[in-house]
Amino acid sequence: MTFGNWDASIHSKTDQIKRINTSKQIKSKNVVDLDAQCQTARISGSSGELYEVTLDHCTCFDFDAKRGPCKHIYKLADEMGLLPPQPTLNAEKAETFKQSIPAEIERFKQEYLAGAISADKFIKIANALNSK
Ligand SMILES: [Zn+2]
Repeated sequence: MTFGNWDASIHSKTDQIKRINTSKQIKSKNVVDLDAQCQTARISGSSGELYEVTLDHCTCFDFDAKRGPCKHIYKLADEMGLLPPQPTLNAEKAETFKQSIPAEIERFKQEYLAGAISADKFIKIANALNSK
């Protein structure tokens, strides 16, 4: 499932997962002038600026710089029920992953000790793995 002219594979790239996640923080009240027929909206940004959004284009800086779906495009798609379903946490899978964390941290520690990654990167990974 996709929307606009985007290849569905783009939505599973790490940077796009970040944008989809960020789009969930945009409040529906910030989506103004939603035109379901034309599949357009204006979405107000955090400092009040108003972006013109279609499923293929947005007037924000991120879209201009990356030429890929920005958080506003994802928000419009979500409002229209076109956003592909996102994975939900599965308790059983989460528990299995949790039990693998010490081994994962050990693996990255070995990379750090071998000089493959910096102490800073190792600590960030370990902290991320230990966070909720
Ligand atoms: Zn945008």
